[in-house]
Amino acid sequence: MTMIKGRGCPLCDEPWQEAAGKNRCLFCGNEEPAEFRCANGHYVCEDCRTADPREMVARICERSKETDPLALWHLVTAHGVFHGHGPQFHFVLMPVLIAVLRNRGLADIASDAVRKAIGRLSEIPALSCADTGLCGVGASAGAVVSLLNGATPVSDGERRAVLRASGNAMLAIARHPGGRCCRQSALATLEAVWVFLREDLGLALEPIAVRCRHFARVADCKAGCTYHG
Ligand SMILES: [Zn+2]
Ligand SMILES: [Zn+2]
Repeated sequence: MTMIKGRGCPLCDEPWQEAAGKNRCLFCGNEEPAEFRCANGHYVCEDCRTADPREMVARICERSKETDPLALWHLVTAHGVFHGHGPQFHFVLMPVLIAVLRNRGLADIASDAVRKAIGRLSEIPALSCADTGLCGVGASAGAVVSLLNGATPVSDGERRAVLRASGNAMLAIARHPGGRCCRQSALATLEAVWVFLREDLGLALEPIAVRCRHFARVADCKAGCTYHG
């Protein structure tokens, strides 16, 4: 994402204005001297503008204090690299969920392990949903469970739990009519894995109502998507 006048704030779409003094990054919390910010005072730091998307996502989630998975997912995917659709969506939801569970005191996963899992999910290519039946977003449900239960290829219950989590997510994604929408797939996965974490892993999580806050920004957003509103 380039911070230029006319393109607007990724969070609220207000145009950029010249700014002076230190500003706090809306994504990662960095404070640094700013040249531009939006009319609502939002600023995006140099690192968050220029870092590799995997690094950017990891850093935001490592620093976040957010406990609402929808709020954190919507914040991270407000970044310009998440305009439209694409394989960059494969590796966002997992670190968001791990961060939220950490902030609720329900998980304590080393950041190295999360970054390694981001790397594995980022290897799932674009179009794999249609080519192989493996949606990278859906697979991130299994990655969350794997980090939590330490599954290995030879473990029994843990590995099967990982497969069930991803399988549930794939089924949830497939229930939505129409072509691919990576935001819809992520929200369907979030809905499915949240239930899985509560009911299968026994984590103390309240039910959540999943809604898409960015559908107006998706040019080919599907009419009738159940996450609108
Ligand atoms: Zn703004
Ligand atoms: Zn930042």
